[in-house]
Amino acid sequence: MNITNTAHNTKLKDIVNSLLSANEMTDDILLALYAIYDKTLSESLQIIDKQMIVKYIFKPSNRSFYVVNGHQKDSKYLCLLDGDYCGCPAFRNSSPKSDFSYCKHQLASKLTEMMNDKSVTTLSDRLQITV
Ligand SMILES: [Zn+2]
Repeated sequence: MNITNTAHNTKLKDIVNSLLSANEMTDDILLALYAIYDKTLSESLQIIDKQMIVKYIFKPSNRSFYVVNGHQKDSKYLCLLDGDYCGCPAFRNSSPKSDFSYCKHQLASKLTEMMNDKSVTTLSDRLQITV
């Protein structure tokens, strides 16, 4: 994907946002996302398919984050939907960042958010976690 036109970028961002904020995943949404993300989307779906992603929710605040298992043994990446952050090397190295250039972990988090069968672990707000 090579898009340099700013106006085009803004439109694509709007499209991605509306696709990812849909209430349920449909074939049409999947096809549209595939047209935009191509290989990254396939990798994200594999992450979901292999159940390599877990959502953690803090109670009672309802703050949440995702942890995605990497392919290498013991590698885990923290994904925050608020603030668009991922702890993986691909995210760190993608520069300059555009608003819709998600890594496969972020995309998997966003897709999982749309699907109902997500694996959720609830944590107390008082718990301190280091990832
Ligand atoms: Zn990532």
